[in-house]
Amino acid sequence: MDKFISNYIEGFMGSVVSRNPGEKEFHQAVREVVESVAPFMMDYPHLMDQKILERIVEPERIIIFRVPWMDDRGEVQINRGFRVQCNSAIGPYKGGIRFHPSVNLSIMKFLAFEQTFKNALTTLPMGGAKGGSDFNPRGKSDAEVMRFCQSFMTELFRHIGPNTDVPAGDIGVGGREIGFLFGQYKRLRDEFSGTLTGKGIAWGGSLLRPEATGYGLCYFAEQMLATRGESFEGKKVNISGAGNVAQYAAQKAMRLGAKVQTLSDSDGFIYDPEGLTEEKMEYVFQLKNIRRGRIKEYVQKYPQAQYFPGERPWRIPCDIALPCATQNEVEVADAENIVKGGAICLAEGANMPTTPEAIKIIQGAGLLYSPGKASNAGGVATSGLEMSQNSMRTSWTAEEVDQYLRRIMSDIHAACVKYGTREDGTVNYVKGANIAGFIKVAGAMADQGLV
Ligand code: GLU
Repeated sequence: MDKFISNYIEGFMGSVVSRNPGEKEFHQAVREVVESVAPFMMDYPHLMDQKILERIVEPERIIIFRVPWMDDRGEVQINRGFRVQCNSAIGPYKGGIRFHPSVNLSIMKFLAFEQTFKNALTTLPMGGAKGGSDFNPRGKSDAEVMRFCQSFMTELFRHIGPNTDVPAGDIGVGGREIGFLFGQYKRLRDEFSGTLTGKGIAWGGSLLRPEATGYGLCYFAEQMLATRGESFEGKKVNISGAGNVAQYAAQKAMRLGAKVQTLSDSDGFIYDPEGLTEEKMEYVFQLKNIRRGRIKEYVQKYPQAQYFPGERPWRIPCDIALPCATQNEVEVADAENIVKGGAICLAEGANMPTTPEAIKIIQGAGLLYSPGKASNAGGVATSGLEMSQNSMRTSWTAEEVDQYLRRIMSDIHAACVKYGTREDGTVNYVKGANIAGFIKVAGAMADQGLV
């Protein structure tokens, strides 16, 4: 890289790090984008003059609030709530809510920043935001989760709205939590609106929203594979995670003819050498979504499978790796295992699951590699479709939504190819996704003046 550009990047990152001390995930997400867009931006002096990059890394608004609630034993509990409204240049703020004990300001800011570019890539008019709490839903009763959600919304409701900010789910926030959050929002505002997405089908939700992130990931990976004349047919696929994204990625990969070998949670992973089937997936849906159990129970039901406590699935050889758990879950040793196992593709279902050093190993070995902001955008894209249906007061069939989803994933792939094709004809999806997302947001910011 040109010395001038690398100096610019280091100078820029130096100031981001000193303005946001200790926020390592935020630094990581910003660096990845800046490394992609800085060389490109040099050709657009008006973007430099207007300090678009300096503005884009400064969230428009951050709300941090106390969330008090009472547990089933009558004991008072206090958690911290967040909403990071990163960018509203191309539409109302949009992004999920995460309930997980690891949630902190750095994680919220990195997710809101990633969301800004991801949402721009979907081709739909959505700005970027993220929210959440360090509340741990594990082991909590439905009544505790409800009381927590009601308390969380009692503060959040004044900052959101169908034309302002539209939250959805993320880790620890699924249909049950969206229901409780929506109920409280509706009661406080006395208004039935599309302020949250991921709603139940009977009360404004979109068909296929639960499936959308996992399905979209497979549609995107299909397009990546097609650039090398490959497909899912007959491929061994390793998936991490066992939540919403992992479940539907597994179902779609399987339906596209792949053998899905693994699923995981934070305690360990299961390896089923015979591959998942529709029936086994039905068991996983029940286990995870209804009984809220742990993935290790899978081996009691299907004893041909093995459970590896405290490990990640990447040391089992596969052709396609789909990390669908959480940030920085694929580290250097995992990436080395993925390469050694003969994989041809790693497509991210989670947000930023691969560390920068691990990405270098994956890309260096010539694998197809896509960042989550491109390959997991199907979830938020379908949230955008839910917003459209709510505004029109209509609902589309699953086929209609699926058609939109396929088209959007293929448009995102085309944008990555347009801006990320290397001289040798291969595609750098990181560069392509970052530049394509940036162009849209930066252009809108420039048009709207100094706000
Ligand atoms: N949390 C999801 C994401 O990371 C979905 C956000 C949404 O639907 O607003 O993109």
